[in-house]
Amino acid sequence: MSILIKNIKELLQVRETNVKIVKGEDMKILPTIKNAYLMIEHDTIVEYGPMSDLIDYEAEEVIDAKGKMVLPAWCDSHTHIVYAGDRSQEFVDRINGLSYEEIAERGGGILNSVEVLQNTSEEDIYEQSLKRLNSMMQLGTGAVEIKSGYGLTVEAELKMLRVIKRLKKESLATIKTTLLAAHAVPKEFKDNKKGFVDLVVSKMIPEVAQAKLAEYIDVFCEKGYFDLEDTERIMEAGKSFGLIPKIHVNQFNAFGGVALAVKHKALSVDHLEEMSDDDIEVLKDSITMPVALPSCSYFLSIPYTPARRIIDAGLPLALATDYNPGSTPSGNMNFVVSTACIKLRMTPEEAINAATINGAYAMGISNQYGSICRGKKANLIITKNIESYNNLPYAFGDNLIDTVIIKGKVIS
Ligand SMILES: [Zn+2]
Repeated sequence: MSILIKNIKELLQVRETNVKIVKGEDMKILPTIKNAYLMIEHDTIVEYGPMSDLIDYEAEEVIDAKGKMVLPAWCDSHTHIVYAGDRSQEFVDRINGLSYEEIAERGGGILNSVEVLQNTSEEDIYEQSLKRLNSMMQLGTGAVEIKSGYGLTVEAELKMLRVIKRLKKESLATIKTTLLAAHAVPKEFKDNKKGFVDLVVSKMIPEVAQAKLAEYIDVFCEKGYFDLEDTERIMEAGKSFGLIPKIHVNQFNAFGGVALAVKHKALSVDHLEEMSDDDIEVLKDSITMPVALPSCSYFLSIPYTPARRIIDAGLPLALATDYNPGSTPSGNMNFVVSTACIKLRMTPEEAINAATINGAYAMGISNQYGSICRGKKANLIITKNIESYNNLPYAFGDNLIDTVIIKGKVIS
């Protein structure tokens, strides 16, 4: 299958060389070509350039993108989309005055999702999760990381991970899998957190790694959940089985999780609503990508990640949804990009870099995704007719996507 997209008003995020990460000042630059074409063969971008350079080319399908922009599909590096049911009642409880922490103390929160997931069949979980993934793809997401963490027993975590494996096999989206066994302390271990961490380290990690069901290891490093010592034990165990750390840190408290993750060469540190100067300092000269999840801040009414401090310190930043039933029931990266501009004061160029190339880096796939580059996968968004790419974040809540192409196939 070959596709020619011609008369593109502006082709965004064009990288002549295979750039894998964009940092600091460079995030303000979004390279583009006006009046451009792009060619796809099978699942790969094979050529692009200004229309004046287009020579005769026989494509099986020709798309005329007059008045429209083309950009790489979003790369969503942090989600929890495999879950059962929803938590809309807790949403109402919060409106009526309870905090996220109070709801968790009442047995709601993550443990609520754990109970529902344990009692839902694998087939049913798959169907529910596939629906979420498909709606994300319709909204322009082509690559996505998915975490476990609503099982919290060996059996239920394996069930979640098998669902992710099946999504990987049956969906066109590129999926990366993270074992988040230490998401919350299950009820049975209420007074024995160490016993649960022992279980994660001695049983879950080895079984999951041997079954090749995950690539990354995650921990919810937060007060009341898992402390630095627990987090370090789990990262070390994961690494010994080849799982690379990607860690939830600094959502509510900054107490050294960032430095610990950097020490263990985490691929990313995610959330970062609370950032100390030390946290920012330690990220410099590291390989760890800071990841902001602004939809979560929006939904919980908690502070936003200080993107300006992070980027102005010369660091990179990625944006992701955190799609999950409790704190972010939305997988819409367009909203994330808008919110990053509106609330985190990122420029449209910074937000698009953060949601494409840097998102891909935070999943370990930026050699193949996240920019318009010859040889990269043809995961593309074609917008509706718009004046400039600034309209994407500006018209928040609007769907400005006309067509989505994933691995060279038009999906909507
Ligand atoms: Zn999360």
